[in-house]
Amino acid sequence: MPHSDDFLAVHDPAATRAVHAPDTGSSRWWGFAVALLAGLLLLCGLTWLVSFQRGLAALQQSTATRADRYAATLESTLDRYEFLPALVSLHPFVRGLLESPHDPARVAAANHYLAEVNRRAHASATYVIAANGIALAASNHGQPGSFVGTDYRFRPYFQIAAGGRMGRFYAIGITSDEPGYYIAQPVESGGKVIGVTVVKLNLEWFQRAGSGAEPLMVSDDHGVIFLSSVPAWQYRTLQPLPPALQAEMQSTRQYHGRAVTPLPLEPLDSPVTRWLAQTTLGANARLVRVRDESPAARTTFTSDATQRADRYLELGRTVGPADWTMQVMAPLEPVLANARNATVAAALAYACICLLLVNWRQRRQRARDMQYSRRLLEAAYDELERRVEARTADLMAINEKLEEQVAERTRAESELRAAQDELVQASKLAALGQMAAGITHELNQPLAALRTFSDNTRVLLERGQLAAAEGNLTAIADLTERMGKITGQLKLFAGKARPVRRPVVVRTALDHVLALLAPRLGEVTVSVAGLDEQPGLSVRADELKLEQVLLNLIGNALDAIASAAQAQGRIDIDVHSDAGTVTLAVRDNGTGIAPEALPRLFEPFFTTKETGQGLGLGLAISSSIVREFGGQLSVANVPGGGAQFTLVLARAPASPSANAALPVSTPQ
Ligand code: ADP
Repeated sequence: MPHSDDFLAVHDPAATRAVHAPDTGSSRWWGFAVALLAGLLLLCGLTWLVSFQRGLAALQQSTATRADRYAATLESTLDRYEFLPALVSLHPFVRGLLESPHDPARVAAANHYLAEVNRRAHASATYVIAANGIALAASNHGQPGSFVGTDYRFRPYFQIAAGGRMGRFYAIGITSDEPGYYIAQPVESGGKVIGVTVVKLNLEWFQRAGSGAEPLMVSDDHGVIFLSSVPAWQYRTLQPLPPALQAEMQSTRQYHGRAVTPLPLEPLDSPVTRWLAQTTLGANARLVRVRDESPAARTTFTSDATQRADRYLELGRTVGPADWTMQVMAPLEPVLANARNATVAAALAYACICLLLVNWRQRRQRARDMQYSRRLLEAAYDELERRVEARTADLMAINEKLEEQVAERTRAESELRAAQDELVQASKLAALGQMAAGITHELNQPLAALRTFSDNTRVLLERGQLAAAEGNLTAIADLTERMGKITGQLKLFAGKARPVRRPVVVRTALDHVLALLAPRLGEVTVSVAGLDEQPGLSVRADELKLEQVLLNLIGNALDAIASAAQAQGRIDIDVHSDAGTVTLAVRDNGTGIAPEALPRLFEPFFTTKETGQGLGLGLAISSSIVREFGGQLSVANVPGGGAQFTLVLARAPASPSANAALPVSTPQ
């Protein structure tokens, strides 16, 4: 068989070889994922950079506007007061005081005048210093902490003014301990400086000019921050002061004992800030970080937001006549936060796009997979169909062969049946020949009786004994009828009767057979057991054929007894019956059957008899007849010697007419 067990195992790699598996390699997915990640990083970086740059530019612009405004405010204030000391120095009261410093009236007049000027000008203090450095009169005369009598020789503004120039100075007051901007003007008389007029301004209001969120500071020409909206930054330097300068500040008591330490301000330096400085930031702008190291800042501002708020866009402006620098510090945090937000938004948008992309890819992959599966299925289906076709062709070929064999067997069977029929016929003829002698003898006896009866009848008629003659004639008629029956049986026996099954009375059949064999019985005793109780016991068979079987069995028994030269020949016929079957056992005390002959006994032409004695057909035909009736025929040796043939037949309902032997009457 070309296709056997694997008939349904359709997954043949060769069959599906043509179907290419879609490429689902994980390396492609990895490449895709890495590309997406790289894209994300690039997008985040660019978004952050662009939004930071734009935010920074906007911040710079808005801060510059404010810085200009602050600078203008400060400048205008300074300008407003610039002329005041000169104006004061021209006043006669002041000049009179300087000319007669010890005149109480002039001192009082000067004090009064200075106080009035100071009040109207909204300055901190206005005072007059003699050429020796001692303050002669002041707007705050008579008040606690009055400047009058204070020695100002060490103050640079006095020294400059004493030198004939205008002195400007920012310092903490040594008397009042209040910071202020000092403008000093020399008072000259006859080409000689006779004194100095000073106006002190309080500029602390400027510290509050800016918004709280945007530190503002002003530093002097040494870089010392003297005004700052952040209190912790005041009196700190933008860069470390050289020792000489420190000593000088000590001597001028400019910051009156305040520890002037550097502010930890450092420019942000990175490739990004350098790039921003080139592209976005102006000349006076830079990005800085201020590390606030004060314990208060350390303990108070520890949140992340404050930590980040120490980064600023520093915008510088030069203000005032004294080379001051104003710095507006715009916190970078909002710009950074915007950049962060924009980056996050871009990342989210990118992630959404990526998800859509991945989803789209997966759907495409799934579609490809499904297509592949379908192609695989189609290939498998084609393969299955191919195999089914091949298998069907095989089966059809086998079927044709089987049909041929069946036809051949049917032919052989019919031939065999014909041969068997022929054999039956031949056997019947043989049996007829065998029986001829017995029949002749059987007919001779009634013929002799007929002659006797007819002779007797003639005598009786001659004697006029008509009644007796009539009786003899009746006997003659019976005899002729019996003879007719015998010949009729022979005719039937020789004929090829169709097998029929009808109730056959066992006793009748046996009697006929025994009557036929009577001439051969001789000294042999035949006993029939089991029939007296049920004379009408019947089997389903054909009468003649059953008789043929019994004739053969009893005939063989007689042959065996004769062969054994048995003096006390005996044939026992036992009849048993149950509800459905009737069993006839024919037992003899003849030769018995040789063990090697036993299996072959029912074969046609098997005989142990001499040529001419037997054809070896009797048992073969008998067993075939019995099978035709639906019965069985079997053989076994009898332990004491001899053989027993057992015939089992289907029982039929008992027949009411059990035949009896014919009566014969003779002349008295
Ligand atoms: P045939 O009588 O022509 O030989 P059968 O078929 O009737 O053919 O018998 C076949 C053989 O079976 C006989 O030759 C004989 O050897 C054996 N046989 C049949 N009946 C008996 C029997 N009662 N006892 C011993 N042998 C028997």
